[in-house]
Amino acid sequence: MIWNEYPEVKLARRILDRHKLTPPFKVRHLLELHATVLTEAIPIDGVDGIAINIKVLGKTPTVIVNQNSSETRQTFTMAHELGHLVIPWHIGIRIDEDKYEFESGESYSLFEMEANRFAAELLMPSSIIRQIAANNTDMAKAHKETCRRLRVSPQAAALQVGNTFPPGAIYCAVEDGTVVYSGCTAGTSESKPFRNEIFNEDWYPRARKHSSWNINGLSIHWWEMTDDMTSTTAKSKRDWRKILDDIVSSIDIKEEKDRYKLSVNAIIAHANGRKRIEGNHTFPHLLEACHQRFNVERHALLRNHPDFDEFLNLRLIELLPVYEIYQNKSE
Ligand SMILES: [Zn+2]
Repeated sequence: MIWNEYPEVKLARRILDRHKLTPPFKVRHLLELHATVLTEAIPIDGVDGIAINIKVLGKTPTVIVNQNSSETRQTFTMAHELGHLVIPWHIGIRIDEDKYEFESGESYSLFEMEANRFAAELLMPSSIIRQIAANNTDMAKAHKETCRRLRVSPQAAALQVGNTFPPGAIYCAVEDGTVVYSGCTAGTSESKPFRNEIFNEDWYPRARKHSSWNINGLSIHWWEMTDDMTSTTAKSKRDWRKILDDIVSSIDIKEEKDRYKLSVNAIIAHANGRKRIEGNHTFPHLLEACHQRFNVERHALLRNHPDFDEFLNLRLIELLPVYEIYQNKSE
């Protein structure tokens, strides 16, 4: 199912609307409107939270949150337990462990996945994630900004980024050279790295972007796969700088070659800046703007070179925000 259509996702949005909340906010205050909330040491291994008396007539529910969990984890637990309290068909008692396993359906009950989806949307609304992605040029930057802005753990953020985007993005967190956790957007055809697998930077040669960032001894890697629209550029393993070098050294221009290359890059940078200001910073708009600017006598030899389109595509993809080319699909 598409993320936006899950009833528990819609429910989370309605609650944010009703209380006029924009994450990050104090989830505990929200939870306290529905239950007695206790923060205590829970002496059962791996248990993050317990909810008792969910929709039991005449009783106020109680939620116990494990005080030994990290702060971000406690926040997620409270949002998850709130999910159990407000999703109409969840009743009785829930004992919750290891809630970060969103999608691994094998050992996970439907109720748990529903409460997780509710919590994810409550703490990290997909509309905000898309906004963050639109302002960042790669997934690593978008991921880092999501953690910073919404004050969530990298793992929870990665899962929600994965829920929000269309197929074709894979991530893994690496510690001491091995994979600690990994995931991908729903429907991605490539398989994600396994837990404990030895990390290899070249796992996905078909990726159009590979980016990474570091936090708390982990390095987190993202690969963005291409789809048909960018398949021509995907096949190219060349760097746009190298292509431009090759083109310029093979054509007979009258100017000094390094200066000429600078002027080519300046044209693209200028077009890019304009499109951002105008608010139509998309691949087709930027491509058209560049074609117009190169359509002058000075650049005729460059423009007519068989590798020019490949150079321009690769260059523009680097300048555009994450997933700009998918934007319509992900709405
Ligand atoms: Zn649960």
